[in-house]
Amino acid sequence: MDRFFTQTHCDRCHKSLDGGRIMSMFNTQCICMECSDKERQRPAYKKAVEADHEAIRSGNYNFSGIGEDAQDMEQEIHSRSREAINEAEFNENQGEFSGAGASGDYESSDDDADDDDDTDDTDTGGSDD
Ligand SMILES: [Zn+2]
Repeated sequence: MDRFFTQTHCDRCHKSLDGGRIMSMFNTQCICMECSDKERQRPAYKKAVEADHEAIRSGNYNFSGIGEDAQDMEQEIHSRSREAINEAEFNENQGEFSGAGASGDYESSDDDADDDDDTDDTDTGGSDD
């Protein structure tokens, strides 16, 4: 980008930069103050500035602007080099300890199944005589 300081003519109108130079808000062109004034009056200028600030805020210092061809129409600036924002979301899920339910079942129910041995007295017909 050192060309920015060495070039002598406006990238846009090719006039001399004796009156001052400035980086375009729309791209990386080095333009004269006159061109700068012109682009400031463009409705899209606000967007260009916002996009620039947004890029810097997200760590993109090489943002090249929304483009000089960004006319006054609605431009989707969000799709341009915005992938720098990677928000890692930390969801702290605290695992709950389900306490070991030591509800002692000590009741050993003694089921003495009484087998009633019914002795069948099958009297085979006593011969009565
Ligand atoms: Zn110019």
